[in-house]
Amino acid sequence: MQSTNPKTRLVPCPECGALSEFSPSNAFRPFCSERCKMIDLGIWASEGYRIETPIVTDDLDIEDLS
Ligand SMILES: [Zn+2]
Repeated sequence: MQSTNPKTRLVPCPECGALSEFSPSNAFRPFCSERCKMIDLGIWASEGYRIETPIVTDDLDIEDLS
């Protein structure tokens, strides 16, 4: 096995089918992008994964106090 192969290996993204680099430079391999990786993991589509974003209202109600 050669560790320094000059030819970049391209693999089809399992999610969208686009060719992407299968190399250490592609952190999302074999996916083409972070988005496709997330989709494949079901993070976008699944109801079981939600990012709760607390609403911070620190500066909203104290404007007229002074
Ligand atoms: Zn993709």
